[in-house]
Amino acid sequence: MNNNYEKIADLLFPNIDKTPEYYEKLYPARHLQKGAEVTRFAPSPTGYVHMGSLLTAFYDYMFAKQSVGVFFLRIEDTDLERTVEKGVEGIISDLAQYEINADEGVDKDKNSVGMYGPYIQTQRKEIYLTYAKDLVRRGLAYPCFCTKEEIDEIRHEQEKNNECQIGYYGKYAKCRDLSYEEIKKNIEAQKPFVIRLKSTAKVGDRVKFVDKVRGEIEMSDSINDVVILKSGTMLPPYNFAHAIDDHLMHTTTVIRSNEWLNSVPEHIQIFKALGFEQPEYAHVAFVQRIDPETGTKRKISKRKDPETAISYMVEAGYPAKSVHEYLFTLANTNFEDWRIQNPKADMMDFRLTYDKISLSGALFDLDKFNDVSKRVIANMTAEEVYDKLVSWASVYDKKWAELLSNDKDYAIKFLSIDRYIQNPRKDIAKWSDTKDLYGYFYDELFDKKYELDETFEKDTLSKIFADYINSYDENDDKNVWFDKIKQIGERYGFVAQVKEYKKNPTAYKGHCGHVCNFIRVALTGKRTSPDLYEICKLFGKEKMAKRLNDFVETL
Ligand code: GLU
Repeated sequence: MNNNYEKIADLLFPNIDKTPEYYEKLYPARHLQKGAEVTRFAPSPTGYVHMGSLLTAFYDYMFAKQSVGVFFLRIEDTDLERTVEKGVEGIISDLAQYEINADEGVDKDKNSVGMYGPYIQTQRKEIYLTYAKDLVRRGLAYPCFCTKEEIDEIRHEQEKNNECQIGYYGKYAKCRDLSYEEIKKNIEAQKPFVIRLKSTAKVGDRVKFVDKVRGEIEMSDSINDVVILKSGTMLPPYNFAHAIDDHLMHTTTVIRSNEWLNSVPEHIQIFKALGFEQPEYAHVAFVQRIDPETGTKRKISKRKDPETAISYMVEAGYPAKSVHEYLFTLANTNFEDWRIQNPKADMMDFRLTYDKISLSGALFDLDKFNDVSKRVIANMTAEEVYDKLVSWASVYDKKWAELLSNDKDYAIKFLSIDRYIQNPRKDIAKWSDTKDLYGYFYDELFDKKYELDETFEKDTLSKIFADYINSYDENDDKNVWFDKIKQIGERYGFVAQVKEYKKNPTAYKGHCGHVCNFIRVALTGKRTSPDLYEICKLFGKEKMAKRLNDFVETL
């Protein structure tokens, strides 16, 4: 060990008295079964969680779960300028809403939970400084006192010299070989400094690594002496912080966005310098969307796609199950085929694999998301729908929650219509749809806005409705009820057989289906509804009579 390096290390980090060994002991290996994956979701609290970041978290969660491993949450907040207020809380509540629950990490009060914490990077500063000090001590890292102006100058010179790479390297790395005395002088003059890692590569070197999604990759090695501690805060940027954390937290697989792919050579050098074993990498492409204006694919964005923000989805009331099912469709290209073959299977029975992750980026499609959600909700029991709906409404639509809660039995009854059948009704994509779809079950919400059409004649309708109410018997089964409607219709020129009508449409005013539709529109305001017979039974004679009358009045 060069004695000077030792002195430089003490000069730079006088207060750091721990050693890497101390932390190695503090965070011992995890005892997990063979093949268990330790994954982490490591967001920076810089904004909001959207479908893209949620998908990354979902991979982390699922791959750990499938392999009986560990999934933890780590908050990467060392870039203080980009950190937003309540950013951490937002991430935690978004993940909780969609039940992507970490085994370790940070709870809603920002407390670290787990043996490998703290899980908030700004609280781990001493650890980073300890490892940085050790690198300096071993001559692998050094302080750089270059000012911004000097760095700009270096760039200009490199441009002038037509260098194929711009950066802090080779002969341009002015501070690489400063003597102890020079460093001491700078420190005494209180010159700000960063710590840089000495790159082990030279121009033209190549590096190879394997990515779990992309296979073997070869690219130029990093010749830059990258910054591992920033000046002022002495906090590490992502490259150094993640290496130390993933090592000490025993991450086996780093699943992250492919914007980091080009930095892998730099990360490999950091792991090597620190003497750490490299975790496996899985770089996942950004979730894409077809831009409605240009018709071309692009990355989803906060500004252009507010409906991909988790906060929007929570507010609109997409249930966790729907979001999970949709995340599966985004996560693996073979999920949809599996679902067609296994329509009733629990989605958690699907085995997610790295090789079926889309290389170009999964495509977010709001219509498809809605369809998936409708299917998921259609397969819930009425009780499940009721519970989830009421808990959503109690936050986002108090009046609706109150109406639903006043008579649970009634709500369960209308939510049961067309539910327990071969092909259940798929109409609810999100809880905020329900008031429009089912509000007419409540007089308080029935707004007497009717979806009319030109066949609605006041005289005929008032006669048909009068006959219908007179003949209505709540004990009639569906066939008897429908036969009565057919008979009433025939009295007023509506043929009982649809086929007959189609053969000779001018001979009739319409067919029995039209009669049902008059009743439907009068009762619900809508031209489509769940099973009309069931609605009539639920309303009862009195409520029906009132709605039919009210409707006729409006004609
Ligand atoms: N904090 C990094 C980001 O938000 C995390 C990347 C990673 O998962 O390692 O992009």
